[in-house]
Amino acid sequence: METIVLVGGGLAGAKAAETLRAEGFDGRVVLVAGEPELPYERPPLSKGYLLGSAERESARVHEPGWYEANDVELRTGVAAVGLDVAARRVELATGEEMAYDRLLLATGASARRLPVRGADLDGVRYLRTLADADRLRADLADGGRQLVVVGGGWIGLEVAAAARSRGNAVTVVEPQPTPLHAVLGQRMGEVFARLHRQHGVDLLTGTTVREIRGAGGRVTAVVTDRDVGLPADLVVVGIGAVPHTQLAASAGLEVDNGVVTDHALRASAPGVFAAGDVAASFSLLYGRHLRVEHWANALHGGPAAARSMLGQDVTYDRVPYFFTDQYDLGMEYSGLSGPGDTVVCRGDPEDGGFIAFWTSDGHVTAAMNVDVWDVTAPLQALVRSRQRVPAAALADPDAPLESL
Ligand code: FAD
Repeated sequence: METIVLVGGGLAGAKAAETLRAEGFDGRVVLVAGEPELPYERPPLSKGYLLGSAERESARVHEPGWYEANDVELRTGVAAVGLDVAARRVELATGEEMAYDRLLLATGASARRLPVRGADLDGVRYLRTLADADRLRADLADGGRQLVVVGGGWIGLEVAAAARSRGNAVTVVEPQPTPLHAVLGQRMGEVFARLHRQHGVDLLTGTTVREIRGAGGRVTAVVTDRDVGLPADLVVVGIGAVPHTQLAASAGLEVDNGVVTDHALRASAPGVFAAGDVAASFSLLYGRHLRVEHWANALHGGPAAARSMLGQDVTYDRVPYFFTDQYDLGMEYSGLSGPGDTVVCRGDPEDGGFIAFWTSDGHVTAAMNVDVWDVTAPLQALVRSRQRVPAAALADPDAPLESL
């Protein structure tokens, strides 16, 4: 009987297991999950779960009985610690060695650590896992905390929104001129700056954290490069994620900001594949390797890798897609914009829902819909088509997106 081992019990790994069975694979499927949890989705951890409006169970990828019902051997709380790609064997932390015919690396990423003095004090938090979310949810639940968020990226802003909504005082410290500057640029970054300031967040841009101070082992203040001491009894660090590539690297697989794969999610050794946050996969659309740390990439990449493992002809080539919810604002972003792109808006960013388009040489590189729904398909088609579209047509609310 053939054995497929899936390493990593996140969304990519669990969806790969589902697809293997849906496609009729009747061999052995082992899902090796380092965390002691059933596979779960992370987006609710910084939204509904932190707000107290959703429960843990709602984040599960599958119901508890699904794994047994589908003959998927789920090994929770067990990490894969060694990989021999020549012998096609994987070693688990329990000491067990397992032979595989094909192996998926879906090991995801972990929160980047803050490299300053005091970052090990009690009260400094990260948010990546359900265990992190449990702790932070309890911290914020009663309100009245003095929270400093380090980093105005997606995680930092969602935590800030949840913390404010639960009655905590929040300061966000961000080195760039606006939050989300690297992804959205100045003008759209300002939309999120305004949103958070309107909700009472003290947003310090152009500011870096230099040190965290404490007393009795607990956080008391965050010191910035402007020599300002910000009082804090809780610090949440959201400064990006680092892919879990150690297993791949130690096995001699090609690693370059992620496990390098071709367009079919095949890694550099026969029988080994990668998907989700850990994969740097070759995109035919962009003509280069991309590592995408978004939910949709795990949702679709896991199944694509499963089909590729079954020998199907797979080209994994999706337009990157991301969503966020902060306060009452909901947003979706499709594509990849560049620093020199021009922004064209359909609707007023200061007044209700709108769509922003990023263009380069007349081509739409990315689009963001804010409080406008059911437009992802035409926006992604526009990005994918690479056709030139006049700015006036992009801005015209009466021009159907499908006809651009
Ligand atoms: P992961 O979810 O990281 O899962 C990988 C799993 O593998 C982990 O459980 C890890 O412990 C395990 N593992 C690692 N090494 C080993 C090993 N050697 N052996 C066994 N197991 C191992 N994206 C969006 O598009 N929109 C959002 O709103 C959004 N919100 C988010 C909110 C939070 C708080 C976080 C943390 C992420 C959010 N994301 C969001 C990103 C999205 O959740 C990730 O892109 C997605 O989780 C990636 O899934 P994955 O399966 O590739 O990796």
